[in-house]
Amino acid sequence: MLPDPAGMVVYAIPMRTRFRGITVREGALWQGEAGWVECSPFLDYDARQSAPWLRSALAAAAEPFPEPVRGSIPVNCTVPAVGPARAAEIVAASGGCRTAKVKVAEPGQSLREDCDRVAAVRDALGPDGRVRIDANAGWDVDTAVDAIGAIDAAAGGLEYVEQPCASVDDLASVRRRVSVPIAADESIRRAEDPLLVQQRQAADVAVVKVQPLGGVRATLQLAERLTLPLVVSSALETSVGLAMSVAVAAALPELPYACGINTVRLLTEDACADPLVATDGAIAVPWGRPVPDRIARITADEETRARWIARLQAIEAVLT
Ligand SMILES: [Mg+2]
Repeated sequence: MLPDPAGMVVYAIPMRTRFRGITVREGALWQGEAGWVECSPFLDYDARQSAPWLRSALAAAAEPFPEPVRGSIPVNCTVPAVGPARAAEIVAASGGCRTAKVKVAEPGQSLREDCDRVAAVRDALGPDGRVRIDANAGWDVDTAVDAIGAIDAAAGGLEYVEQPCASVDDLASVRRRVSVPIAADESIRRAEDPLLVQQRQAADVAVVKVQPLGGVRATLQLAERLTLPLVVSSALETSVGLAMSVAVAAALPELPYACGINTVRLLTEDACADPLVATDGAIAVPWGRPVPDRIARITADEETRARWIARLQAIEAVLT
């Protein structure tokens, strides 16, 4: 059950740069029996699509996170579709990340630009670093096969390529034709999706986000049913919501890849004075749940608050 709206914090925090078309991130925080939780489905999601996000918060409010099996989570830095000099700067300023995710297949850019960017990232990381690329479904099958070969050579070896094509069948076709491992990201939005990806042999890695999959335990249960390794990725939460992603990454029996959870700094403010951010390329697993002690700095205006409370009630109505 949702708490009394009086106990709910609705936040609105500007993003440092536009991300996923979003300039201001909004969501709700409240305190449950087990600690503070966040529910922050993106605004373009309807009540039905947002239902797992609320289920995730309600579960986290009611029960403690599982015992961690590791004390820190390695994270990747992200290099947008920028020129090579800027790409190298981003890696150098990443706070010790040993894995870089490089955006490729940007509309209007050439394969040459992708190769130059990735080569600059490899130089900046050194031979021991890991370079992965993310095409955000920007290629068709033939283009993907050619591009992955060229970029893999320019990178001196890629860790994996994330979502080269849009459909699961196309991912499977690309996977059969290249030696670089394939990761599914956009193909995984609902709990049943990773099983389909696995069944079609469409990927070697599953990128998962905890809120849309229904929460910490739901994601860990899903992991048990998959032979695919998981890469935990955030949904651009504050530290309160990100703690769910950290909890999953901390409790997974195997964590062979750096996770995409060093995202709190993409927001101009955080709910917590001591945010869940990486030092030396890793996020330390927190002792307890993050407590939002900077509420006044992030609280939304009355209109936004009223809109979120109505929205959460509509999502709750779908749950029951
Ligand atoms: Mg991606």
